[in-house]
Amino acid sequence: MNDTRFRKSSSCPDLTTVPPLGLDAEALESDFRHYYTNTLGRDRNCRLTHYAYEALALVIRDRLMERWTHTRYAYEDSDCKRTHYLSLEFLMGRTLGNAVLNLDLGDELTKTLSNICLEMEELVDIEPDAGLGNGGLGRLAACFLDSCATLQLPVQGYGIRYEYGMFRQHIVNGYQVEEPDHWLETDNCWEIKRPEYRQRVKFSGSSESYIDATGKKRMRWVNTRDVLATPYDLPIPGYRNGTVNTLRLWKATATDEFDLEEFNSGDYTGSVAAKNEAEKITMVLYPNDSSENGKELRLRQQYFLASASLQDVLDKWIVTKGTDLSQFAEKNCFQLNDTHPSCAVAELMRLLMDEQGLDWEEAWEITCTTMAYTNHTLLPEALEKWPVALFQQLLPRLLEIIYEINARFLKQVAERWPGDMERQRRMSLIEEGPEPQVRMAYLAIVGSFSVNGVAELHSKLLREGLFRDFYEFWPEKFNNKTNGVTQRRWLAYANPKLSHLISDKIGSAWATDLGQLSRLKPFSEDHAFQQQWQQVKHYNKQRLAELVREDCGVDFNPQALFDVQVKRIHEYKRQLLNILHVIHLYDRIKRGDDQSWTPRCVLFGGKAAPGYVMAKLIIKLINNVATLVNNDASIGHKLKVAFLPNYRVSAMEMICAGTDLSEQISTAGKEASGTGNMKFMLNGALTIGTLDGANIEIREETGAENFFLFGLTAEETEKRRQHYNPDAVIADNEDLTRVMQLLQCGHFNQFEGGIFEPIIQAIRSPYDPWLVAADFADYVVAQRQAAGIYQDQSQWTRMSILNTAAAGKFSTDRTMQEYNKHIWTLPQIPAHPVS
Ligand SMILES: *Cc1c(COP(=O)(O)O)cnc(C)c1O
Repeated sequence: MNDTRFRKSSSCPDLTTVPPLGLDAEALESDFRHYYTNTLGRDRNCRLTHYAYEALALVIRDRLMERWTHTRYAYEDSDCKRTHYLSLEFLMGRTLGNAVLNLDLGDELTKTLSNICLEMEELVDIEPDAGLGNGGLGRLAACFLDSCATLQLPVQGYGIRYEYGMFRQHIVNGYQVEEPDHWLETDNCWEIKRPEYRQRVKFSGSSESYIDATGKKRMRWVNTRDVLATPYDLPIPGYRNGTVNTLRLWKATATDEFDLEEFNSGDYTGSVAAKNEAEKITMVLYPNDSSENGKELRLRQQYFLASASLQDVLDKWIVTKGTDLSQFAEKNCFQLNDTHPSCAVAELMRLLMDEQGLDWEEAWEITCTTMAYTNHTLLPEALEKWPVALFQQLLPRLLEIIYEINARFLKQVAERWPGDMERQRRMSLIEEGPEPQVRMAYLAIVGSFSVNGVAELHSKLLREGLFRDFYEFWPEKFNNKTNGVTQRRWLAYANPKLSHLISDKIGSAWATDLGQLSRLKPFSEDHAFQQQWQQVKHYNKQRLAELVREDCGVDFNPQALFDVQVKRIHEYKRQLLNILHVIHLYDRIKRGDDQSWTPRCVLFGGKAAPGYVMAKLIIKLINNVATLVNNDASIGHKLKVAFLPNYRVSAMEMICAGTDLSEQISTAGKEASGTGNMKFMLNGALTIGTLDGANIEIREETGAENFFLFGLTAEETEKRRQHYNPDAVIADNEDLTRVMQLLQCGHFNQFEGGIFEPIIQAIRSPYDPWLVAADFADYVVAQRQAAGIYQDQSQWTRMSILNTAAAGKFSTDRTMQEYNKHIWTLPQIPAHPVS
């Protein structure tokens, strides 16, 4: 890829000028036949749907490609400021259906496919999910990209092209079993490899000083073990606006010299091993959500992403503008998605000083006017710290820079609070102790001009708790940006029936202006509209019931209340509280306390981190309860329970459309925002939830009367933990006493003695941080209220309509506009027209 002689003369015609492609059914069909036959080489004997999917994907990709180039040229020609969104995770899901929606090719494609006896649904289902993320944080990044393309903002995503994404989950005998997700096994036609933009990333070695040609003392990082970063670009189409933005994912490969060096010393297998060593960096996504990874390979991944992306941006600057970096900060912003890419602060300093020859002050000014940091969690176990010793060995030059940042920062702290050594110790980027650690969140705060939380309560708790010292020092840095979801994927694509019903009533402008949904409000009382709304929900529940039947073998009756909790399995999210309520319902039916009963189908789904023993045991408990309940003829249709294996984006598209009741029941003060809550609300589910994360804002928008609230507040949980006595709470509540008795007597583990002991102990522990027993009674009351209202279908439907009508705030379009107004200040740049 060193061939730079290619068509150097500026008089050569532009090879990328091509006639626009047709968007009608005829053009689509002719291209389809071309790809199927000439490119993929299929003949009339081929019976695999897979190739029809591939041919269709190529047809759509072409239409993206021409808009992609035109978008890139528009950004280049306007020389606009840009934002680079750095994230270790992008949970994209599938591309085909979303691209068809955003390009507005749905109607024409339906004609094409019916001509050639194919069905869109069947083809779309062939595509594997791009599962390059764990959960909310990664899916948020994906929704952000969709909104930026729709708003025509020059924002590019930077991430890692993991060979293995999030593991596939199977349930065997009630237990989670993980299977590697080799999603690139069949080639991924949505990515474009761009070896011409390869970068070199350094590791290990040491730092030394030298005198440069001008007599200035400078530092350099030598004797390094380098790894190459090759970018693969994914198209991010905006909604029907000609814009296609880019997600650039890096793959690690060995350098040629590296191989050669080992090879020349006669160590052939050693050279191959070195290659493996390099490629390991982008091999696998760490499957821990909301908890630290702490592994050397993870730090390698983080630095690899930060370094390759920053070099990519700097190279582009130098190629187009030369080495004067004085305007760099005016034209660039780096948004750090949590602390995962926060090495970028020190790496940008290194590149500007060591590679570009800037002095400290110039480099620091650029760094802390381009970096912005988003915090995603209050859980202490998720706060990243890296041992100084590991940094020293892997990134010695970066550690030097971090020490210098820290020294200069602590001097400022000392000036502001003279003699307050305790404060200096608290705020230091280095945590002292037997094994000193680098505090990545503090590095991110010190090196950024903006620090934001992801919901009002979360941002407040950051200011008052976790980052209190930093807030006192720099109050102006701190701000809130409440999360959202893209209504294109999560309503228009996931729920076409409801979309059409809404558009029939209020027009289709909601697709790019979600606030329009408030115009549904007057129709919430309209009986005919309620009936249509119910019919759509019923249809979506039938589809969900089919999925549950196929994947769990459990019969859900669409007439019943569909009560759903899908999200990562974590103690703070309290799937345990939900299953205790299910046991309580079972107990009530068995006792005959089931007059005017509301039949209920309870659906769980979500992955546990493979090393998270308690979360995996909770999955087992859910499955054991499900087996017992579903096979008890005396329970019948009154209660069904299922655990849907392998929860993922494409499953959620089906699930959120078919849900009546959305479970958002985390211990208050623990869920930063949540976004699952927003997808459900948008699709007309009612929420049962605590005053946590964005639930608070959801309740504010929809009105307290349309939300099933329960539980302690964040403030109350703090106090409650001081003197918490779950045994007394249990003894005091007959329902909970019976539920605990059923658990303790082994009713749900008859031939599996004692397996749920750790769960029983956790609930009964005075140190249970999640306060499961404390919220049980209030939860049961709220559940009973929901069940009661469900019996009045007209009232439930009215509340459902009002929830969708109030979802306008929770679009990532609004979130992105806020980031842009207060942090990025980018212009909107329309793409050059294709024709
Ligand atoms: C939206 C989403 C999440 C986040 O859900 P929360 O309930 O906010 O934790 C996680 N995983 C997938 C696949 C999602 O679509």
